[in-house]
Parts: sequence; C-alpha cells; structure tokens
Amino acid sequence: MELLRSSPLQKLNAALFTDKKVEVWVKRDDLIHPFISGNKSRKLHFILDDARKKGKTHLVSFGGAFSNHLLALASAAAENGFTSTAFVRGEDVQNDTLFLCRMLSMQLIFTNRESYRNKDALFTHHFSGDESAYFIDEGGAGELGAKGCALLIDELPRTFDHLFCACGTGTTAAGLINGLSAKKLPTKVHVISALKNGSFLRDEIDKLLHKPQVYQLHTGYDFGGYAKATAQLLSFIQNFIAKTGIVIDPVYTGKMFYALFEEINFGLIEEGSTVLAIHTGGTMGLLGMKSQFFPERG
Ligand SMILES: *Cc1c(COP(=O)(O)O)cnc(C)c1O
Repeated sequence: MELLRSSPLQKLNAALFTDKKVEVWVKRDDLIHPFISGNKSRKLHFILDDARKKGKTHLVSFGGAFSNHLLALASAAAENGFTSTAFVRGEDVQNDTLFLCRMLSMQLIFTNRESYRNKDALFTHHFSGDESAYFIDEGGAGELGAKGCALLIDELPRTFDHLFCACGTGTTAAGLINGLSAKKLPTKVHVISALKNGSFLRDEIDKLLHKPQVYQLHTGYDFGGYAKATAQLLSFIQNFIAKTGIVIDPVYTGKMFYALFEEINFGLIEEGSTVLAIHTGGTMGLLGMKSQFFPERG
C-alpha cells in the first residue's frame, strides 16, 4: 500500500522557546501528501489494507463539507485503485474540498443532519446490495486508524519529554499513546481538543488504548468549538505562518500550536524539556476559513 510514507522532523525556533529554555520539534506529517493530509494518511493505511484483504473495491465513508478525511479518502482511493463514495453532512454545497473530491471521482451523497446521525442505516440502505462496498467510519476513526498512527512513533530518531497533538475523534491521540507505551517511552502526551466540551474524548481515546495510560486532555483551547475561531486564534495563526513558514489551520493544528505556546508561556513545560508537536496536516482547513482572515477582501 502506498500510504506508508514517513515525514521529516524539524526544529522550531521562537524567542519564547529560548526564553523558557525548551526545545520544540515538529513532526511534519503535513508534508506527507498534499491531499492525503497528515494523520489521515496514517489512519487510512491499515483501513485500506483491510478493505483490500476482504476483496472490497468501493470505499464508503462520511464527513462534513470541509472534511480532511473525505479528501484524503478520495485521493487515497484514486491512487490505490478503489472507487469511493461519501455521505456529506448537510445540504448540497460547493467548496474547494468537495471540488477536489469530485475531481478524484468520489461520488458525493448530500445527507440531511437527521439521517446522517445513523451511519450504519445509511450504509445499509444504499449499499446492502453492493458486495464491493466497505464501510469506513467518519474521520477514519477506530482501531485500524489508531494502529496506523502508532507507527509514527517508530519514525522518531530520539525521545521527547512532551508530545502535543490535536484531537477530533481521538483516534490519532490513542494511536500515538499506544505507540509510545509499546516502546516504554515516558513522553507526556498533551491532547488538544478541537471540539467544544471535549472531555468526552477521554472515553473515546481510552476505548482504543491497549492498556490504561496517563495523558493530559486539554479542553480549554477549542476557541468556541469545532471549526470556530476567535480573532486571537486567527492572529496567532497568521503570525505563526509568517514567522515559521509552516502553514497551520484554525480547525486543528492552529489550536494545538496555540496550546503549546500557552503551556510553555505559563511555565507548565519545565525548563530543559524537549517537546514534539505533531503537525497532523489539514491545510485545506485554512482555505475553508480564508474569508475570516481578510474579511475586507471578501
Ligand atoms: C482529522 C484531523 C485531526 C483529528 O484527528 P483524530 O484522529 O480524529 O483525533 C487532527 N488534525 C488534522 C489536521 C486533521 O485533519
């Protein structure tokens, strides 16, 4: 399978890090592929493997109109000889993400919020007669997804005191925690919820852990909820991109990096520590919110 690609590790410089005597490194999963974004590439690896083993050729999944997962799936399907269908939550809309999905020949079925809630029913209703159809949960969530994310830990050439990652379903975080514990690494994991009232994510993550683990779930950096942002977050992102040349987005990695800077600034990351930030990708999320950055330009 072509999805098993590794990513570079890059040191990040900032006056704050020098002041606080911490070292910050970024795992550039955003560079894995332009459209099979970061962690989605890792999550899809064993999922596509499983589909292939079962002789399935038609990948079916679910997501919102700006879903990085759907675009990743459309792209991975096209590259690997699968066809793909997506149930898209909400009314028929057009945007750059869905445009690319269409270009990659993904079939889109717009689904009202009511029916979208029951994914199994949707799948059965449309595809019970299609032997080739393979169900993939929203966001590539689940055990196979986590298993792929755990492989990131094997790529690390050294150990770190802290690891930061953004969280939507919790699958990526769970995989990383499993990967660290398999190697008995003492790295402290910080999971940053991109969703409002994210404390429920602890159950989602714990379900996927091979054994119980201690980690920190940060629920105070959601900036109003999923795909919501404040002027403060937007200006942090703009400044970060300008200063580092690394593109981050307001949905996931912007919130994660904001949290990382805050935790360091508050002295919660002890002097002399090394910190690893996982850049999970998601550049399309920035494009989806471009009008919020320069509203005067429309
Ligand atoms: C999907 C996504 C996440 C969330 O990953 P989960 O495994 O669902 O927690 C984080 N960052 C980016 C850029 C994503 O696209």
